[in-house]
Amino acid sequence: MSVMQFRSTRDAQLTAGFGEALAQGLAPDGGLYVPTEWPRAQTGSFGLRDSLAGAGARLLAPFAAGDPLEPFLPQITAEAFDFPAPVVALGGSGRLAVLELFHGPTAAFKDFGARFLAACLSRLRGPGARPLTILVATSGDTGGAVAAAFHGLPGIEVAVLFPKGLVSPTQERQLTCWGGNVRSFSVRGTFDDCQQLVKQAFLERRWQEERALSSANSINLGRLLPQAVYYAAASLAVFRRHGERASFIVPSGNLGNAVACIWARRLGLPIAEVVLAHNANRTVPDFLDTGDWTPRASVATLASAMDVGNPSNMERLRALYPELSEIRSAVSAYTVDDEAIRARIRAGYRDLGQIWCPHTATAAEAYARLPAERRDGGRWVLVATAHPAKFREIVAPLIGRDVAVPESLAKLFARPSQCTQIDADLASLRDALRDGRVSEGS
Ligand SMILES: *Cc1c(COP(=O)(O)O)cnc(C)c1O
Repeated sequence: MSVMQFRSTRDAQLTAGFGEALAQGLAPDGGLYVPTEWPRAQTGSFGLRDSLAGAGARLLAPFAAGDPLEPFLPQITAEAFDFPAPVVALGGSGRLAVLELFHGPTAAFKDFGARFLAACLSRLRGPGARPLTILVATSGDTGGAVAAAFHGLPGIEVAVLFPKGLVSPTQERQLTCWGGNVRSFSVRGTFDDCQQLVKQAFLERRWQEERALSSANSINLGRLLPQAVYYAAASLAVFRRHGERASFIVPSGNLGNAVACIWARRLGLPIAEVVLAHNANRTVPDFLDTGDWTPRASVATLASAMDVGNPSNMERLRALYPELSEIRSAVSAYTVDDEAIRARIRAGYRDLGQIWCPHTATAAEAYARLPAERRDGGRWVLVATAHPAKFREIVAPLIGRDVAVPESLAKLFARPSQCTQIDADLASLRDALRDGRVSEGS
């Protein structure tokens, strides 16, 4: 069997195997790893009797072929995908459904990728390996999911960086409730500053000598690839039930979730359209409109986990579709401001009895804006990226009732909070990492 290689988005000659690419996070030239081949998914019997974990092991097998991780893949997917991702039909036209990705430990889709990566990295560490530090920048949900996935794993330390004052109180508790091998840093800056810090840290050779560094952001292939699994399972479920390809509307920030959907389609799964639903951070919708790529500072919105002004995974989309015309036929995008998000949360509850988090509401609003013939001609699936209880400060007043908190989240909320404030520069991060102490409070 041939060994699958992954290459940097910036240099096709710079390649790595599956495990190597996961351990590195970012390619040495600062690019992102992407597959060099697109093995056609064998969907004949795929997923029919399989659990999500079984489907995942089959879908991902060609990517791990010949790699040290290959023999562990079924165990890895069993650990990572141990909660469901149901496609739930909505009332109304009967052609709309929701893919619920919020049944994991931190109630957001990022649990899938974070748990897959943790299961892989813990198996890649040989006996006597030096301690590994996972650096993760988060605009909200990533940090919690990564912390939950790695908490208590031996030999691995996690440093979570989040923008001070720019995540919801509920999210902040999830980022700072861990202790042990997880440390959180509240950075005086924006999410883009946090992400920039992580990228810079990787380019510092001297750091790599002191500590083995890895990333767990959606720039890591080990986060992104497993996300293709729920799109595979969901699209096949829709196809078998209705004989039509599913179109997905993906609440998008850094584009990790959307690229996973596009990769699933590239692997031959029955996926028609992929629509990107962005908040007021409109870099991607503007790019599709004008052809000019103009990254900018992020602006704070209600859908804070998508407050990204310079989406990293655009590089992966461009690696797959080098021409603007190709990107335009592969995806379309909408930008939704806070007022429309609020209105859509209200309407979802009033008209459909649905309680949506602000990100999911962004997708629902994009659906409402689709031209009627596209909407009526498609089988649409809204991707629900987080449980509304994570954003209950926003959601409850809009719908006029409290949002029930799932048990997994309630347990996290009960833990004490710990975090350290740092400036948004490399020296502060280095000092904070060296200084093992963790201060109380925020
Ligand atoms: C991270 C996140 C997003 C955005 O996902 P990307 O992969 O960064 O595009 C959307 N919704 C929620 C709830 C998230 O946590």
